[in-house]
Amino acid sequence: MSFQWPDGKKAAITVSFDDARLSQIDVGIPLLNEYDVKGTFYVSFGALEKRLEGWKAAVVAGHEIGNHTVNHPCSGNFAFARSRANEDYTLDRMESELIDANAKIEEVLGVIPTTFAYPCGQKFVGRGENVKSYVPLVAKHFDCGRGFKDESENCPEVVDLAQAMGIDFDRATFAELLPQIKRAEEQGGWLFYAGHEVGDDGRQMVQSDTLRKLCEYCGEHSEIWLDTAAKVSAWIKEQQG
Ligand SMILES: [Zn+2]
Repeated sequence: MSFQWPDGKKAAITVSFDDARLSQIDVGIPLLNEYDVKGTFYVSFGALEKRLEGWKAAVVAGHEIGNHTVNHPCSGNFAFARSRANEDYTLDRMESELIDANAKIEEVLGVIPTTFAYPCGQKFVGRGENVKSYVPLVAKHFDCGRGFKDESENCPEVVDLAQAMGIDFDRATFAELLPQIKRAEEQGGWLFYAGHEVGDDGRQMVQSDTLRKLCEYCGEHSEIWLDTAAKVSAWIKEQQG
């Protein structure tokens, strides 16, 4: 297979943000809008309702809303997830919650998500000998599922879009991102960034300065396709046939 990016582009970058953290509406989206950059937002419902008008405006501005489940299950090793631990889930429960989250997003924002981000990057239900992967469910319902704290850009010829690599860019300086971007350009890859808050300081915080420099860099390097996960994964899917 000979893979080609559209319009002579040499690499792709997506910036994505999880959990509908309030600073995404208050800081992140206004910053992206300044550069006419479209981001992907994997939303959680309690937080989404606190900035509902902002999310409606984000949809109108062309940002992507993605599925991040209804209840954000993660391993029960995280104290916050103990009452909704992957270890206690079944595939049936997971599938119905994936479908419910899409229905809820359609109801409140009028769009149907085509991409997904695994809460905590974890892709299993059950424990021990009964562990099962829920990657096949994500493959069935979405064009793409993004991991978290992965270590590589995605190679478009070979990536299984149901478990695309997602690189954590919380706290990172632009100088730290630059080698990853250069490598994606050299390899013709898709760099799929994953973050949480947007602002100046904090543990799960994409630095405003980093995001601004990333937008500026991509503005100056027309060989990079900076777009949503929906757009990039749809292109890869089509090329993979
Ligand atoms: Zn999350």
